[in-house]
Amino acid sequence: MRVSEVLKAITKNTILIYASAPSYPHGTIDPIEELARIALRYSFCLHVDACLGGFVLPFARHLKSISIPNFDFQIEGVTTISVDTHKYGCAQKGSSVLLYHSNILRQYQYTSVTDWSGGLYISPSQPGSRSGGLIAQTWAALLYNGYNGYQSAAHKILLASKYFREQISNIPGLELLGADVTMVVAWAAKNPKLNIYMINDILSSMGWELSVLHAPPALHLCITSANIGSLPSLIADLRASVADSFEHQNNSSSGMAPIYGLGNALPDRNLVGEMLKEIQDILLHNS
Ligand SMILES: *Cc1c(COP(=O)(O)O)cnc(C)c1O
Repeated sequence: MRVSEVLKAITKNTILIYASAPSYPHGTIDPIEELARIALRYSFCLHVDACLGGFVLPFARHLKSISIPNFDFQIEGVTTISVDTHKYGCAQKGSSVLLYHSNILRQYQYTSVTDWSGGLYISPSQPGSRSGGLIAQTWAALLYNGYNGYQSAAHKILLASKYFREQISNIPGLELLGADVTMVVAWAAKNPKLNIYMINDILSSMGWELSVLHAPPALHLCITSANIGSLPSLIADLRASVADSFEHQNNSSSGMAPIYGLGNALPDRNLVGEMLKEIQDILLHNS
């Protein structure tokens, strides 16, 4: 995120700006101190999306080898923070947390209907009926892991991320995207003879499932307690697939690479949107 672009986008109708800690694609932490100064200057809200990072980054404060900048309410000007319990909180999907800096702000999410024939109606947010089971399960996940559990997992994840970044930066032809050490590591092909989507196809044939990014074309891995042990063998296979890809650079791949390449290169984004609708139709009809 470029702060200068944020400044350009502000109009008299702006009520909120937001930042990621970290972003899903590249694991980068936005310049939140700087954005907070802007939010204070214009008196609007600053939302920090810590959906992915909320259960990892706060625990890095005790790590000496990795420094994570402040991103939370310690910075004056941050008004809301989202934290996904369903990610590194290890709870079920469907649960998440939105933290407010003040109760006055929180009142804006309430629904209160006073003139309905069904009576007075309230809901703490926009949705109506929700499962209490999810809330109980989320509470159980918090108690089960506890502060120490989350802290020890976060330390292992961030140290593994540091290791993984170092390993990737040592593979000729690849480059890391983003400079922050967080749970996401993203990399692209630096050498124009390399097709990162073809590398992904080779990795897929070896049984790896990575996330495919575009604009720019890249791959990423979200490091979790479950995959830390596999990182050395992923690095070995990544090295092998880069070498393989260098050798067969002109062969068109029979895997997903042409599809990802097309999705990335088509200038008509409406057409890409239509294709994505078709895919969802197919998925639902088959289930
Ligand atoms: C997961 C995530 C979200 C929210 O996604 P949901 O699937 O709706 O929980 C928002 N921001 C980031 C950075 C995320 O990783």
